[in-house]
Amino acid sequence: MNKVKMLYEGKGKKLYSTEEKDVLIAEFKDDLTAFNAEKKGSESGKGELNCKISSFLFEMLESKGFKTHYIQTIDAQNILCKRVEIIPIEVVTRNVATGSLSKRLGIEEGRVLPFALVEFYYKDDALGDPIINDEHCEILGIIQNRDELDFLRTQAKKINAVLKEFFDSKNLRLIDFKLEFGRDSAGNIILADEISPDSCRFWDKHTNEKLDKDRFRQDLGDVKLAYEEVLHRIMMA
Ligand code: UDP
Repeated sequence: MNKVKMLYEGKGKKLYSTEEKDVLIAEFKDDLTAFNAEKKGSESGKGELNCKISSFLFEMLESKGFKTHYIQTIDAQNILCKRVEIIPIEVVTRNVATGSLSKRLGIEEGRVLPFALVEFYYKDDALGDPIINDEHCEILGIIQNRDELDFLRTQAKKINAVLKEFFDSKNLRLIDFKLEFGRDSAGNIILADEISPDSCRFWDKHTNEKLDKDRFRQDLGDVKLAYEEVLHRIMMA
């Protein structure tokens, strides 16, 4: 399968059509952005690391019965995936307070939440991805009915349970992460986008060292080293 035409360029990936109508190629980019793309950078090799990490995690979720857009890895930086229409909701699940949750509600950074908190953000750069509730989603017309939101929430919690346990076995704390879902050609809602240190927060289990995009956001240095460490740990038997 070959790249035919670039359909879309996002912050972390480029999407290409292929000879097959319902199959796309996603290319993981080295670019890094934060704070709604106000801060921009690049880290050579980051695309490959995210491609490997995300592919591994999507394969793991597929093996556990979750339906995703992932088909297979093509090479170090490209995957084959199903064409979906992305639902413009960022589904964020949090196990530990930090980032915008701490800022918005004054919950101290690092506080373990009593249960996994799922939040919805409206995926709209011009609006700065505002947090939204079920009624906003309905009014915006971005879901067909409330059951779909219940499905997204339930999927996010189930995926969190799987990932949290997996990362714990790799001495990583899964602090929070963002998922995106899309509708495939048959109308089914499936997991899409990526799961990588660009979209998750990982803290070392023993030292709480940050091993994710916060190293870029907060100018902590060693961004690539941190992503390499995540890949190294998840690949360890
Ligand atoms: N996140 C993301 N893309 C976004 C916003 C957030 O992947 O556009 C991820 C982020 O990496 C973190 C989680 O979602 O793992 C929660 O992010 P938060 O709301 O705390 O926002 P931030 O502090 O990153 O602005």
